[in-house]
Amino acid sequence: MTRPPAGYRGRFAPSPTGPLHAGSLVAALASWLDARAHHGAWRVRIEDVDLGRCVPGADREILRQLAALGLVGDAEPVWQSAHGERYQQALDHLVSASLAYPCACTRKDIAQALAAQGWAHERHVERPYPGTCRPELGGLRGRPGRAWRLHVPACLRATHTPSPLVWHDRRLGPQAQDVADTVGDFVLRRADGLWAYQLAVVVDDADQGITHVVRGADLTDNTPRQILLQRALGLPTPQYLHTPLVLGTDGEKLSKQHGAPALDVSAPLTALNTAAQVLGLPAQHGPLDQALATWTGHWAQTWAVPHRPA
Ligand code: GLU
Repeated sequence: MTRPPAGYRGRFAPSPTGPLHAGSLVAALASWLDARAHHGAWRVRIEDVDLGRCVPGADREILRQLAALGLVGDAEPVWQSAHGERYQQALDHLVSASLAYPCACTRKDIAQALAAQGWAHERHVERPYPGTCRPELGGLRGRPGRAWRLHVPACLRATHTPSPLVWHDRRLGPQAQDVADTVGDFVLRRADGLWAYQLAVVVDDADQGITHVVRGADLTDNTPRQILLQRALGLPTPQYLHTPLVLGTDGEKLSKQHGAPALDVSAPLTALNTAAQVLGLPAQHGPLDQALATWTGHWAQTWAVPHRPA
């Protein structure tokens, strides 16, 4: 197999909380097509940091499903659970730059602090962390540290990032988020010792040299947090494209938590045609590799032309 050019590197990064479903296939197919259309490399990264949500065997099942659909990486997949040391190095770097701090607050402490600031508790509404354990406000005050948080205002200052943080999505266009006001000092390492998605994804995208992230639109509002972390760690920012979501009959995003059925890959083209339709690609009826090649051509015309290497 010839090595893809150094330029483009994409990835599909499923959490092994269950098998692939019709929604996750859209992100998988889009990221694979984007890599092919750029003549780039594509990798699969199993995001198994949230051990409590991982289902034993789901990683192998996802890889089996992808292989049955013809979506195979250019290198062996990697597992985030093997990268703890790299996440620790990144956290140490942030702490030594005074951009992250330990937090002793329980959920109850946070609710009380928010109430004291006049925020009424609302179900399903998560308010930004009130900043109780910020070093300049007194820090842990003798309490044991539980989690580690990013000091968002300090990061914005240190990286000269104006607020709102403005970024570009290749499908959705210009985006903006006031990270301090909407999410606040977010968690990097959880009270249970597990690494938070935001830190793990940023470290791995950089370590793997990912230049283009193509993933579901449910993650769009995570992107400004990740860009801020990249800047705080001195890492490059990939280009982003967030794909349309597949909605269930109840109008909710199709997800494993909402009981989306496992993708049936016994008829690969049927499954792929459903995902292709969500991406605005025409239905294909030929052999699998021919269908994928035809979609790659369509994709290149729609999304990849400005980025194609000379
Ligand atoms: N692991 C995440 C998920 O399955 C995707 C992360 C990403 O693509 O950045 O929802």
